[in-house]
Amino acid sequence: MNVLLFGPPGSGKGTQAKDLAERLGVPHVATGDIFRKNLREGTALGQLANSFMKVGALVPDSVTCDIVADRLMQPDALDGVLLDGFPRSVPQAEWLLGWLASNGRRADAVISLEVPEAAILERITGRRTCSQCGATYHVVYNPPGATCAKCGSNEIVQRKDDSAEVVQGRLTAYARETAAVLPLLRKSVATHDLDGTGEIAAVKARIFAALKL
Ligand code: ADP
Ligand code: AMP
Repeated sequence: MNVLLFGPPGSGKGTQAKDLAERLGVPHVATGDIFRKNLREGTALGQLANSFMKVGALVPDSVTCDIVADRLMQPDALDGVLLDGFPRSVPQAEWLLGWLASNGRRADAVISLEVPEAAILERITGRRTCSQCGATYHVVYNPPGATCAKCGSNEIVQRKDDSAEVVQGRLTAYARETAAVLPLLRKSVATHDLDGTGEIAAVKARIFAALKL
């Protein structure tokens, strides 16, 4: 099953992705995580992506679609993936639908998480991230321990692009380039518009119910 997790930055996509991917039995593919991994490893892709990420802009479509194509061809992704943070522009969405179709695959469902902007700002500025495995926490709503509950690392930090200045750029990019993706996906993929507010467990229950899991 190929499922797309859609929503503004900070809407809870990464938080929900872990259990959902496990339940679906597919890998969690987050383009932001792929870019950050490349940056940590000092690759040319990481450097290039970072020049956009640090100002809250989208990485160019051609670069992003290429890394998604590579990832979707890996053996563990052939039977399905949970895509998080992709597609994020109309050209990316058109490319994805075309690529899936020409590879005998399809997008089965879209989960769109709706969260008002005030809550988004509070979530993003309070987010803390494990720089080793990418697990996310929140200083109030999901406080991290001294070490990461997922991988044991003690490197739980605030992402540079979660600063108040960069967040504004990311919200602008969302409004300008990403919001228009949803109506396009809706035309051909079963789309579930879900309330992303409330307890993390309550949002998870809504997602699982929508997908009949
Ligand atoms: P995204 O992947 O969509 O950018 P995240 O999953 O990283 O968003 O969530 C952003 C922040 O909000 C994180 O700090 C996370 O712990 C927190 N968060 C996620 N879901 C909820 C929720 N239902 N209630 C409160 N905080 C949440
Ligand atoms: P995220 O981890 O989803 O919050 O993404 C962090 C940053 O990575 C974004 O602000 C963009 O700069 C970049 N990024 C992630 N996914 C995409 C995408 N699909 N298209 C373009 N840029 C992306």
